[in-house]
Amino acid sequence: MEQRLVEELRAIVGEDSVRQMEPMSRHTTFRVGGPADVLVLSQRNTLPDVLRLCRQHDVPYYVVGNGSNLLVGDGGIRGVVIKIAKAMEELRLSEEGGRYELVAGAGTLLSKAANFAAANGLCGMEFAAGIPGSVGGAIVMNAGAYGGEIADILSRVTVLTPDGKERELAAEELALGYRTSCIAARGYIVLEAVFHLASGDPEEIRKRMGEIREQRIAKQPLEYPSAGSTFKRPEGYFAGKLIQDAGLRGYRVGGAQVSEKHCGFVINCGGASAADIRKLISEVTDKVWEQSGVRLEPEVKMAGEFEDTLGGMG
Ligand SMILES: Cc1cc2nc3c(=O)[nH]c(=O)nc-3n(C[C@H](O)[C@H](O)[C@H](O)COP(=O)(O)OP(=O)(O)OC[C@H]3O[C@@H](n4cnc5c(N)ncnc54)[C@H](O)[C@@H]3O)c2cc1C
Repeated sequence: MEQRLVEELRAIVGEDSVRQMEPMSRHTTFRVGGPADVLVLSQRNTLPDVLRLCRQHDVPYYVVGNGSNLLVGDGGIRGVVIKIAKAMEELRLSEEGGRYELVAGAGTLLSKAANFAAANGLCGMEFAAGIPGSVGGAIVMNAGAYGGEIADILSRVTVLTPDGKERELAAEELALGYRTSCIAARGYIVLEAVFHLASGDPEEIRKRMGEIREQRIAKQPLEYPSAGSTFKRPEGYFAGKLIQDAGLRGYRVGGAQVSEKHCGFVINCGGASAADIRKLISEVTDKVWEQSGVRLEPEVKMAGEFEDTLGGMG
Protein backbone atom coordinates (compact mmCIF):
# COMPACT_ATOMS: atom_id res chain seq x y z
CA MET A 1 0.00 0.00 0.00
CA GLU A 2 1.38 3.36 -1.06
CA GLN A 3 2.23 5.61 1.87
CA ARG A 4 1.06 8.58 -0.20
CA LEU A 5 -2.51 7.24 -0.23
CA VAL A 6 -2.36 6.79 3.55
CA GLU A 7 -1.19 10.40 3.99
CA GLU A 8 -3.91 11.69 1.66
CA LEU A 9 -6.56 9.69 3.53
CA ARG A 10 -5.28 11.11 6.84
CA ALA A 11 -5.52 14.64 5.47
CA ILE A 12 -9.19 14.00 4.66
CA VAL A 13 -10.54 11.98 7.60
CA GLY A 14 -8.02 12.85 10.31
CA GLU A 15 -4.89 11.19 11.71
CA ASP A 16 -6.71 8.98 14.25
CA SER A 17 -9.26 7.71 11.76
CA VAL A 18 -6.77 5.91 9.51
CA ARG A 19 -5.09 2.74 10.77
CA GLN A 20 -2.51 0.69 8.91
CA MET A 21 -2.25 -3.10 9.23
CA GLU A 22 -5.33 -3.10 11.44
CA PRO A 23 -6.30 -6.61 12.63
CA MET A 24 -9.83 -7.31 11.39
CA SER A 25 -10.28 -9.62 14.39
CA ARG A 26 -10.95 -6.35 16.27
CA HIS A 27 -13.82 -5.53 13.94
CA THR A 28 -15.69 -8.83 13.60
CA THR A 29 -17.87 -10.59 16.14
CA PHE A 30 -16.18 -13.91 15.21
CA ARG A 31 -13.00 -12.26 16.57
CA VAL A 32 -10.96 -13.62 13.67
CA GLY A 33 -9.46 -12.04 10.56
CA GLY A 34 -6.01 -10.85 9.51
CA PRO A 35 -4.95 -7.25 8.93
CA ALA A 36 -6.54 -4.72 6.62
CA ASP A 37 -3.83 -2.80 4.75
CA VAL A 38 -5.66 0.34 5.80
CA LEU A 39 -8.83 0.82 7.83
CA VAL A 40 -10.64 4.15 7.59
CA LEU A 41 -13.28 5.32 10.05
CA SER A 42 -15.12 7.65 7.74
CA GLN A 43 -17.70 10.34 8.30
CA ARG A 44 -20.51 10.86 5.85
CA ASN A 45 -19.12 14.10 4.43
CA THR A 46 -15.62 12.69 3.82
CA LEU A 47 -16.75 9.43 2.23
CA PRO A 48 -16.92 10.72 -1.39
CA ASP A 49 -13.30 11.88 -1.09
CA VAL A 50 -12.22 8.52 0.37
CA LEU A 51 -13.78 6.77 -2.65
CA ARG A 52 -12.18 9.27 -5.02
CA LEU A 53 -8.73 8.60 -3.54
CA CYS A 54 -9.20 4.82 -3.77
CA ARG A 55 -10.17 5.27 -7.42
CA GLN A 56 -7.25 7.58 -8.18
CA HIS A 57 -4.77 5.17 -6.60
CA ASP A 58 -6.51 2.17 -8.13
CA VAL A 59 -6.90 0.54 -4.70
CA PRO A 60 -9.96 -1.61 -3.90
CA TYR A 61 -12.16 -0.83 -0.91
CA TYR A 62 -14.46 -2.95 1.20
CA VAL A 63 -17.20 -1.64 3.50
CA VAL A 64 -17.85 -3.04 6.97
CA GLY A 65 -20.40 -2.13 9.58
CA ASN A 66 -20.27 -3.86 12.95
CA GLY A 67 -18.71 -7.01 11.47
CA SER A 68 -21.42 -9.22 12.93
CA ASN A 69 -22.13 -11.13 9.73
CA LEU A 70 -18.60 -11.27 8.44
CA LEU A 71 -15.80 -13.83 8.23
CA VAL A 72 -12.51 -12.19 7.24
CA GLY A 73 -9.70 -14.44 6.02
CA ASP A 74 -6.53 -14.93 8.07
CA GLY A 75 -4.56 -13.19 5.31
CA GLY A 76 -6.57 -10.01 5.92
CA ILE A 77 -7.95 -7.55 3.38
CA ARG A 78 -5.87 -5.88 0.68
CA GLY A 79 -6.73 -2.28 0.04
CA VAL A 80 -8.89 0.02 2.15
CA VAL A 81 -11.55 -1.12 4.60
CA ILE A 82 -14.13 1.59 5.18
CA LYS A 83 -15.74 1.10 8.56
CA ILE A 84 -19.18 2.69 8.94
CA ALA A 85 -19.54 3.12 12.68
CA LYS A 86 -19.82 5.77 15.39
CA ALA A 87 -18.78 8.63 13.13
CA MET A 88 -21.95 7.93 11.15
CA GLU A 89 -24.27 7.50 14.09
CA GLU A 90 -27.43 9.58 14.17
CA LEU A 91 -31.02 9.13 15.38
CA ARG A 92 -33.89 11.54 14.96
CA LEU A 93 -37.68 11.44 14.68
CA SER A 94 -40.15 13.25 12.52
CA GLU A 95 -43.95 13.20 12.49
CA GLU A 96 -46.35 14.28 9.80
CA GLY A 97 -50.10 13.77 10.04
CA GLY A 98 -49.72 10.95 12.57
CA ARG A 99 -47.04 9.19 10.49
CA TYR A 100 -43.83 8.68 12.39
CA GLU A 101 -40.45 8.35 10.77
CA LEU A 102 -37.19 7.41 12.42
CA VAL A 103 -34.09 8.57 10.61
CA ALA A 104 -30.96 6.58 11.45
CA GLY A 105 -27.37 7.04 10.30
CA ALA A 106 -25.85 3.88 8.81
CA GLY A 107 -23.29 3.61 11.62
CA THR A 108 -25.92 3.51 14.37
CA LEU A 109 -26.29 0.16 16.09
CA LEU A 110 -29.61 -1.41 15.14
CA SER A 111 -30.28 -2.27 18.79
CA LYS A 112 -29.73 1.39 19.73
CA ALA A 113 -32.22 2.46 17.06
CA ALA A 114 -34.73 -0.09 18.39
CA ASN A 115 -34.26 1.18 21.96
CA PHE A 116 -34.69 4.77 20.76
CA ALA A 117 -37.93 3.82 18.98
CA ALA A 118 -39.17 2.06 22.13
CA ALA A 119 -38.28 5.02 24.36
CA ASN A 120 -40.36 7.22 22.04
CA GLY A 121 -43.34 4.85 22.10
CA LEU A 122 -42.89 3.67 18.51
CA CYS A 123 -43.46 0.05 17.59
CA GLY A 124 -42.40 -2.08 14.63
CA MET A 125 -38.73 -2.42 15.44
CA GLU A 126 -39.01 -4.80 18.40
CA PHE A 127 -37.72 -7.74 16.30
CA ALA A 128 -34.32 -5.99 16.13
CA ALA A 129 -33.67 -6.35 19.87
CA GLY A 130 -30.39 -8.22 20.18
CA ILE A 131 -29.33 -8.13 16.51
CA PRO A 132 -25.76 -6.84 16.90
CA GLY A 133 -25.43 -5.13 13.50
CA SER A 134 -25.29 -1.55 12.31
CA VAL A 135 -28.25 0.02 10.52
CA GLY A 136 -26.28 -0.08 7.23
CA GLY A 137 -25.39 -3.77 7.60
CA ALA A 138 -28.96 -4.60 8.63
CA ILE A 139 -30.31 -3.05 5.43
CA VAL A 140 -27.76 -4.82 3.21
CA MET A 141 -28.73 -8.12 4.85
CA ASN A 142 -32.44 -7.32 5.29
CA ALA A 143 -31.87 -8.50 8.86
CA GLY A 144 -34.80 -10.06 10.63
CA ALA A 145 -35.91 -12.23 13.51
CA TYR A 146 -38.97 -13.28 15.48
CA GLY A 147 -41.41 -12.59 12.64
CA GLY A 148 -40.08 -9.18 11.60
CA GLU A 149 -37.51 -7.89 9.15
CA ILE A 150 -36.09 -4.61 7.91
CA ALA A 151 -38.24 -4.75 4.74
CA ASP A 152 -41.39 -4.42 6.92
CA ILE A 153 -40.40 -1.01 8.29
CA LEU A 154 -38.00 0.56 5.79
CA SER A 155 -39.30 3.55 3.79
CA ARG A 156 -36.16 4.72 2.00
CA VAL A 157 -32.40 4.93 2.20
CA THR A 158 -29.71 7.35 1.13
CA VAL A 159 -26.77 5.61 -0.49
CA LEU A 160 -23.45 6.71 -1.91
CA THR A 161 -22.96 5.41 -5.44
CA PRO A 162 -19.53 4.11 -6.54
CA ASP A 163 -18.89 7.43 -8.30
CA GLY A 164 -19.37 9.27 -5.01
CA LYS A 165 -22.88 10.69 -5.50
CA GLU A 166 -25.65 10.57 -2.90
CA ARG A 167 -28.89 9.02 -4.08
CA GLU A 168 -32.20 8.41 -2.31
CA LEU A 169 -33.86 5.09 -3.03
CA ALA A 170 -37.25 3.77 -1.97
CA ALA A 171 -37.21 0.46 -0.09
CA GLU A 172 -38.93 -1.12 -3.11
CA GLU A 173 -35.87 -0.38 -5.24
CA LEU A 174 -33.52 -2.41 -3.02
CA ALA A 175 -34.71 -5.91 -3.98
CA LEU A 176 -34.97 -6.82 -0.30
CA GLY A 177 -35.43 -10.56 0.10
CA TYR A 178 -34.57 -13.20 2.66
CA ARG A 179 -31.22 -11.93 4.06
CA THR A 180 -30.43 -10.20 0.79
CA SER A 181 -30.62 -6.94 -1.14
CA CYS A 182 -29.12 -5.50 -4.32
CA ILE A 183 -26.91 -3.05 -2.41
CA ALA A 184 -23.60 -4.94 -2.55
CA ALA A 185 -24.05 -5.92 -6.20
CA ARG A 186 -24.60 -2.26 -7.14
CA GLY A 187 -21.60 -1.11 -5.08
CA TYR A 188 -23.73 1.25 -2.97
CA ILE A 189 -22.73 2.35 0.52
CA VAL A 190 -25.69 2.92 2.83
CA LEU A 191 -25.46 6.32 4.52
CA GLU A 192 -28.86 6.73 6.16
CA ALA A 193 -32.18 4.95 6.51
CA VAL A 194 -35.71 6.15 7.17
CA PHE A 195 -38.06 3.75 8.95
CA HIS A 196 -41.83 4.11 9.22
CA LEU A 197 -43.10 3.15 12.66
CA ALA A 198 -46.46 3.26 14.40
CA SER A 199 -47.19 4.68 17.82
CA GLY A 200 -47.66 2.12 20.58
CA ASP A 201 -47.56 1.59 24.30
CA PRO A 202 -43.92 2.05 25.48
CA GLU A 203 -44.41 -0.53 28.24
CA GLU A 204 -45.72 -3.15 25.80
CA ILE A 205 -42.88 -2.44 23.35
CA ARG A 206 -40.22 -2.75 26.06
CA LYS A 207 -41.84 -5.95 27.33
CA ARG A 208 -41.77 -7.53 23.86
CA MET A 209 -38.13 -6.53 23.37
CA GLY A 210 -37.24 -7.96 26.78
CA GLU A 211 -38.92 -11.26 25.86
CA ILE A 212 -36.98 -11.44 22.61
CA ARG A 213 -33.68 -10.78 24.40
CA GLU A 214 -34.46 -13.50 26.93
CA GLN A 215 -35.26 -15.99 24.17
CA ARG A 216 -31.94 -15.18 22.53
CA ILE A 217 -30.05 -15.72 25.79
CA ALA A 218 -31.87 -19.03 26.35
CA LYS A 219 -31.38 -20.42 22.84
CA GLN A 220 -28.24 -18.86 21.36
CA PRO A 221 -24.57 -19.35 22.34
CA LEU A 222 -24.08 -15.66 23.07
CA GLU A 223 -21.19 -16.44 25.42
CA TYR A 224 -19.00 -17.31 22.40
CA PRO A 225 -17.86 -15.20 19.44
CA SER A 226 -19.93 -15.96 16.33
CA ALA A 227 -21.68 -14.28 13.44
CA GLY A 228 -25.15 -15.44 14.45
CA SER A 229 -26.87 -18.02 12.25
CA THR A 230 -24.11 -19.27 9.98
CA PHE A 231 -26.43 -20.60 7.27
CA LYS A 232 -29.53 -19.29 5.58
CA ARG A 233 -32.74 -21.13 6.36
CA PRO A 234 -33.35 -23.53 3.45
CA GLU A 235 -36.93 -23.43 2.25
CA GLY A 236 -39.01 -25.91 4.20
CA TYR A 237 -36.24 -26.74 6.70
CA PHE A 238 -34.27 -25.34 9.61
CA ALA A 239 -30.49 -25.32 9.16
CA GLY A 240 -29.89 -26.12 12.84
CA LYS A 241 -32.13 -29.21 12.73
CA LEU A 242 -30.50 -30.51 9.52
CA ILE A 243 -27.05 -30.07 11.09
CA GLN A 244 -28.14 -31.78 14.29
CA ASP A 245 -29.72 -34.66 12.32
CA ALA A 246 -26.44 -35.09 10.43
CA GLY A 247 -24.81 -35.83 13.80
CA LEU A 248 -22.77 -32.64 13.83
CA ARG A 249 -23.71 -31.11 17.20
CA GLY A 250 -20.42 -30.05 18.79
CA TYR A 251 -18.40 -31.01 15.66
CA ARG A 252 -15.04 -29.19 15.64
CA VAL A 253 -12.36 -28.06 13.26
CA GLY A 254 -9.52 -26.50 15.27
CA GLY A 255 -11.02 -23.74 17.39
CA ALA A 256 -14.27 -23.63 15.39
CA GLN A 257 -17.26 -25.62 16.58
CA VAL A 258 -20.89 -26.30 15.73
CA SER A 259 -22.50 -24.89 18.87
CA GLU A 260 -23.86 -27.52 21.25
CA LYS A 261 -26.53 -25.05 22.32
CA HIS A 262 -27.76 -24.15 18.81
CA CYS A 263 -26.48 -26.17 15.84
CA GLY A 264 -27.23 -23.32 13.45
CA PHE A 265 -24.38 -21.32 14.99
CA VAL A 266 -20.70 -21.92 14.25
CA ILE A 267 -18.78 -20.49 17.19
CA ASN A 268 -15.19 -19.57 17.88
CA CYS A 269 -14.69 -21.63 21.00
CA GLY A 270 -11.13 -20.36 21.50
CA GLY A 271 -8.30 -19.50 19.15
CA ALA A 272 -10.16 -20.34 15.93
CA SER A 273 -8.65 -19.17 12.67
CA ALA A 274 -10.78 -18.05 9.74
CA ALA A 275 -9.54 -21.15 7.91
CA ASP A 276 -10.93 -23.35 10.75
CA ILE A 277 -14.31 -21.66 10.51
CA ARG A 278 -14.44 -21.84 6.72
CA LYS A 279 -13.40 -25.50 6.72
CA LEU A 280 -16.07 -26.29 9.29
CA ILE A 281 -18.71 -24.47 7.22
CA SER A 282 -17.62 -26.44 4.16
CA GLU A 283 -17.64 -29.81 5.97
CA VAL A 284 -21.04 -29.13 7.51
CA THR A 285 -22.41 -28.19 4.08
CA ASP A 286 -21.08 -31.44 2.54
CA LYS A 287 -22.27 -33.68 5.37
CA VAL A 288 -25.76 -32.17 5.46
CA TRP A 289 -25.96 -32.59 1.67
CA GLU A 290 -24.94 -36.26 1.93
CA GLN A 291 -27.37 -36.89 4.80
CA SER A 292 -30.45 -34.97 3.65
CA GLY A 293 -29.96 -33.82 0.05
CA VAL A 294 -30.38 -30.21 1.18
CA ARG A 295 -27.71 -27.73 0.11
CA LEU A 296 -26.96 -25.25 2.92
CA GLU A 297 -25.85 -21.79 1.92
CA PRO A 298 -23.82 -19.54 4.23
CA GLU A 299 -25.59 -16.43 5.48
CA VAL A 300 -22.23 -15.14 6.69
CA LYS A 301 -20.32 -12.96 4.20
CA MET A 302 -16.70 -13.79 3.51
CA ALA A 303 -14.08 -11.19 2.73
CA GLY A 304 -10.31 -10.99 2.29
CA GLU A 305 -7.64 -13.59 1.77
CA PHE A 306 -8.09 -17.15 2.94
CA GLU A 307 -5.04 -19.37 2.97
CA ASP A 308 -7.01 -22.54 2.35
CA THR A 309 -7.97 -23.93 -1.03
CA LEU A 310 -11.73 -24.21 -0.71
CA GLY A 311 -12.45 -21.71 -3.49
CA GLY A 312 -15.26 -19.16 -3.49
CA MET A 313 -17.96 -19.45 -0.86
CA GLY A 314 -20.53 -17.05 0.52
C1 LIG B 1 -25.11 -13.20 18.19
C2 LIG B 1 -25.63 -12.80 16.84
C3 LIG B 1 -27.00 -12.85 16.58
C4 LIG B 1 -27.49 -12.47 15.32
N1 LIG B 1 -28.83 -12.54 15.11
C5 LIG B 1 -29.32 -12.16 13.91
C6 LIG B 1 -30.73 -12.21 13.66
O1 LIG B 1 -31.53 -12.56 14.51
N2 LIG B 1 -31.17 -11.84 12.43
C7 LIG B 1 -30.32 -11.43 11.44
O2 LIG B 1 -30.79 -11.09 10.35
N3 LIG B 1 -28.99 -11.38 11.65
C8 LIG B 1 -28.47 -11.72 12.86
N4 LIG B 1 -27.12 -11.67 13.07
C9 LIG B 1 -26.22 -11.31 11.96
C10 LIG B 1 -25.89 -9.81 11.85
O3 LIG B 1 -26.00 -9.15 13.11
C11 LIG B 1 -26.78 -9.11 10.83
O4 LIG B 1 -26.65 -9.68 9.54
C12 LIG B 1 -26.46 -7.61 10.73
O5 LIG B 1 -27.45 -6.99 9.97
C13 LIG B 1 -25.10 -7.33 10.09
O6 LIG B 1 -24.80 -5.95 10.29
P1 LIG B 1 -23.29 -5.45 10.43
O7 LIG B 1 -23.30 -3.97 10.56
O8 LIG B 1 -22.59 -6.19 11.49
O9 LIG B 1 -22.74 -5.85 8.99
P2 LIG B 1 -21.30 -6.43 8.62
O10 LIG B 1 -21.16 -7.80 9.18
O11 LIG B 1 -20.26 -5.43 8.97
O12 LIG B 1 -21.43 -6.51 7.03
C14 LIG B 1 -22.36 -7.39 6.43
C15 LIG B 1 -22.42 -7.06 4.94
O13 LIG B 1 -22.95 -5.76 4.76
C16 LIG B 1 -22.02 -4.88 4.09
N5 LIG B 1 -22.17 -3.56 4.72
C17 LIG B 1 -22.14 -3.27 6.06
N6 LIG B 1 -22.43 -1.98 6.26
C18 LIG B 1 -22.65 -1.43 5.04
C19 LIG B 1 -23.00 -0.12 4.58
N7 LIG B 1 -23.20 0.91 5.41
N8 LIG B 1 -23.15 0.08 3.25
C20 LIG B 1 -22.95 -0.94 2.35
N9 LIG B 1 -22.61 -2.20 2.74
C21 LIG B 1 -22.47 -2.42 4.07
C22 LIG B 1 -20.66 -5.54 4.26
O14 LIG B 1 -19.82 -5.23 3.18
C23 LIG B 1 -21.04 -7.03 4.29
O15 LIG B 1 -21.19 -7.51 2.98
C24 LIG B 1 -26.60 -12.03 14.32
C25 LIG B 1 -25.22 -11.96 14.59
C26 LIG B 1 -24.74 -12.33 15.83
C27 LIG B 1 -23.27 -12.24 16.11
